Amino acid sequence: METAVVWFRDDLRITDNPTLADAVTAADEVVPLYVVDPRKRGETEYGTEKLGAHRARFRRESLLELRAGLQDRGGDLFVRRGRPETVLPEVAGRVDADAVYAQTKPATEELETEVGVRETLPDDVSFERRWTHTLYHVSDLPTSYERMQDTFTPWRKAVERECSVRDLVAPPDAVPTPDLPAGDVPTVSEYGLEAPTDDDRAVLRFEGGESAGKRRLEEYFWEEDRLREYKETRNGLLGAAYSSKFSPWLAAGCLSPRWIHEEVRRYEDERVSNEDTYWLVFELLWRDFFQFQFCKHGSRFFHPNGIRDVEKAWERDREAFDRWANGETGIPFVDANMRELNRTGYMSNRGRQNVASFLADALGIDWRWGAAYFEERLVDYDVASNWGNWAYQAGVGNDSRDNYFDVLSQAEYYDPDGEYVTTWLPELEGVPPEAVHRPWELSEGERAEYGVRPGVDYPEPIIDLEARYEDLQG
Ligand SMILES: Cc1cc2nc3c(=O)[nH]c(=O)nc-3n(C[C@H](O)[C@H](O)[C@H](O)COP(=O)(O)OP(=O)(O)OC[C@H]3O[C@@H](n4cnc5c(N)ncnc54)[C@H](O)[C@@H]3O)c2cc1C
Repeated sequence: METAVVWFRDDLRITDNPTLADAVTAADEVVPLYVVDPRKRGETEYGTEKLGAHRARFRRESLLELRAGLQDRGGDLFVRRGRPETVLPEVAGRVDADAVYAQTKPATEELETEVGVRETLPDDVSFERRWTHTLYHVSDLPTSYERMQDTFTPWRKAVERECSVRDLVAPPDAVPTPDLPAGDVPTVSEYGLEAPTDDDRAVLRFEGGESAGKRRLEEYFWEEDRLREYKETRNGLLGAAYSSKFSPWLAAGCLSPRWIHEEVRRYEDERVSNEDTYWLVFELLWRDFFQFQFCKHGSRFFHPNGIRDVEKAWERDREAFDRWANGETGIPFVDANMRELNRTGYMSNRGRQNVASFLADALGIDWRWGAAYFEERLVDYDVASNWGNWAYQAGVGNDSRDNYFDVLSQAEYYDPDGEYVTTWLPELEGVPPEAVHRPWELSEGERAEYGVRPGVDYPEPIIDLEARYEDLQG
């Protein structure tokens, strides 16, 4: 009798999961396993935490749902605590496994763990890796990732011209599993974190799991018919209707990008095919690009100068960094975005670009501190998407043109009525829209009239931003 262990990592789904499907096909019995690795939490070298409460809760919900899905198929999800390098050989030995099937990912620590597991498995247990988290398969690229270009557009065009997306893999009908102690799915408090409280202002209550992810697509594509206006509205800041919000489910692997792609095609057949529908796939290609860039450059993405041959002198001013992180810079657009992140675990793409540019360009602070802070806070944190985008924004990554975001004009353009900043900074509610992005310019009379006291109930700006932008231009 053949037995296979299926080691779930960031692929917490049953639909279109080749790792699970191949194991079920090859073996008579499978052991679906999730390992709670102590190295995934704790303090980083930047003084931040690796795991925050929003992502911990999302993962718990995703694991509970995966367990329920496997139980519906006659199986279960076994949860064990410890280093995968120790747990996998133990479990494989206990069930006399012939093989371990696992998702493979490009990030450095994940790869090290994977190599460690392979080395500690006995020789007669084969280690089967599956690449399952991108739209295009790594083996189908026009050039191998080692030789891929570091610039997005030519790479994307070559992929669109020369590759096709593979078909979905059907979910197994049955998952025959031996009788073993199940093990508890970790709670948020097991990580020493406090469960997050919900906030009415959040764009969504992100609920982990494959069916919640599918429900979000159902709502966004089919019920509310938003895909037809995706590109036009994706730079929004408030509410569920702008952009798909698929990122947390993609990051945990609750949704497969190929499944989303198939739904886009179905929408294009049944409703409308336009630039907006194409643009969602275009964004999934950005996601793929960073994954393959990580395969190519590996740990260089964690260097202060990133993947580029530039020498930048980064500031390491802890006090200024803390003001940024806590949303207390006195620049409303930055503060509103950071407070949203801190309260809800999510921030729009427009917000992320602006706060990242503010930290790295305007304050000149080591962008890796910001990336590490996002790692702690984001519900959708993904190594490649996060560090790749941060490096890009800091001018040390891909396509970098040393362009900074002028946060003040961005705020005035994308939040002309000040609705976004006053949602997250109620202390500025009384200030009229034309002044709300620059409260420091208010006269004494205006301050009294609008009931705002910069320096008392809202901070004075941490820097003279306009002067700083002049310097950057000069
Ligand atoms: C500094 C910075 C840090 C970021 N960190 C992360 C991160 O840790 N995890 C993460 O998933 N995204 C990250 N992003 C990318 C992007 O901001 C989010 O994917 C997006 O805002 C999520 O919302 P959405 O699902 O509604 O996106 P949509 O606009 O609906 O896009 C659909 C999907 O495409 C992908 N996508 C879109 N834009 C990008 C992009 N620029 N790079 C990579 N993939 C993209 C995401 O998977 C997203 O879910 C970061 C961007 C910046 C500027």
